[in-house]
Amino acid sequence: MFVAEFQKVGQDLFLRGLVSSHGGNMSLRLGEGLVITRRGAQLGHLTDNDLIETGVEWNDRATPSASSELAVHRAIYQRTQAQAIVHAHPVSALALSLMEDEIVPLDAEGRLLLERVPVIGDGVVEQVRDVIDQVALCLKQHHIVMVRGHGSFAVGQLLDEAHRWTSLLEESCRLIITARLLGEARVGRRSKKKRREAALPAAATEMLRPP
Ligand SMILES: [Zn+2]
Repeated sequence: MFVAEFQKVGQDLFLRGLVSSHGGNMSLRLGEGLVITRRGAQLGHLTDNDLIETGVEWNDRATPSASSELAVHRAIYQRTQAQAIVHAHPVSALALSLMEDEIVPLDAEGRLLLERVPVIGDGVVEQVRDVIDQVALCLKQHHIVMVRGHGSFAVGQLLDEAHRWTSLLEESCRLIITARLLGEARVGRRSKKKRREAALPAAATEMLRPP
């Protein structure tokens, strides 16, 4: 029933490089239950068998097959109004998460829609379960958060909405990195120009010196 929505978003995430071949996971809330991608599923090639239905509050026979990130999805559903969650590993956002405590977009759309994106964790977070409370708490006020060195968790009413925040964050992060690289190039050019200017008086003196 939901497979087409999962397939569409999963394929986009994979083709845009927001997840690796077997990385990331997604879920939809269904009342007291949820549907989540299978442990180790390939988001770019999802089938019916890759969707696992289990409880938000309880375990059942299907639970062990669910994504290893199930506990985080459950905590988010328990504490927010989210109806859908996308967890991805966007590379530019990951790179910035290693250096920033929050990501502040420079572009107009990012500023308007994301404002600022919290980065959670003191160092690289190897187990998201160590920061579950912070992730769920931050997602009460933000569309998306970054877990340092691990990935993004985005929420929405539909998978497509959570996908939108993931894609937008990655685009904003690419711009931040590009702008910083250009800034460094400009600084480099300026200092070269300054060096030229500094060299001028000496050259001029040389020209004026009698033979
Ligand atoms: Zn992950």
